[in-house]
Amino acid sequence: MALILKCKWRFFNNPTSLWTRLIKEFYGSNGGFFQDRKPAAGSRPWSRILAVEVKFHVTSLVSKSTLRRSVGNGEETRFWEDVWIGHRTQATLFPRLAVLEATPVDGWRWCWQRQVRDGRPAAELSRLLELLTSFSCSDHRDKCVWELSEEGTFSVAETRRWIDNDILPEGSGTTRWCRLVPRKVNIFIWCLLLDRIPSFIALSTRGIEINSIMCPVCQDYPGHVGHLFGSCDVAVRIWDAVARWLQIPSFAYLTPREVFARVDGSRINAKQKEVLEVVVCTVFWVIWQYRNDVVHDAGKLEKRPFLWY
Ligand SMILES: [Zn+2]
Repeated sequence: MALILKCKWRFFNNPTSLWTRLIKEFYGSNGGFFQDRKPAAGSRPWSRILAVEVKFHVTSLVSKSTLRRSVGNGEETRFWEDVWIGHRTQATLFPRLAVLEATPVDGWRWCWQRQVRDGRPAAELSRLLELLTSFSCSDHRDKCVWELSEEGTFSVAETRRWIDNDILPEGSGTTRWCRLVPRKVNIFIWCLLLDRIPSFIALSTRGIEINSIMCPVCQDYPGHVGHLFGSCDVAVRIWDAVARWLQIPSFAYLTPREVFARVDGSRINAKQKEVLEVVVCTVFWVIWQYRNDVVHDAGKLEKRPFLWY
């Protein structure tokens, strides 16, 4: 599995090599990576590679944002289509704005098809400008960053270790227990980190017949753990609100394991870390409660502006 991820790393690190250009001809500029479903057609070996990559996302083993671009002079990074700030492409985060871009390929110099004055495009522009205040270019070349490695470069050994730790839970260290949250929340977090919560996908893979495996909150994507707690619209808004509240980077688009890994690795004192852990546990718990409300009280609940605004 780690070797398949190496393929992805090499694809984005060698954009001008012959095999990369060939794949791009058939599968587009991203080579078919970063999708939620495997391609319906295509060459068999490459389709299999993509299918395994999709499985990584669906099972939350390795999130999409593990590979991203570190921008230096911006010459090799596409503003709208590459993951380079945050954990998704700007075209995904700001779709209304992206379609107004007249020259998307040369997207570092914006040229709107019409003036952005009001409505959703204006709101998206405001959020984008806010996001860019923390960003600055340099004279260095752009490069790819592999977030599972401390050096930022891909390593089969390190990736294999990461996957092993996830697949073999008994070898993954001590059980996490936060004394400031209720026992039921601790038990829930324990199940969440072992990927043992009864999501529709989990029930389906255990042979229980269910109507749909789609996320019950948004109905747009399969309802796996990584999506529900990381990239679903409600989750993103909560994590972003928490980030603004605590003035820290957002936990949106991370898997639960990655969230706790970041909490554990934060350079703050023990007390602050404990408080952050309480906040994180509470967010996971609230998202799960909200999801259950939607499932069990379908039709009664509306999607509502959420907490911490
Ligand atoms: Zn969703």
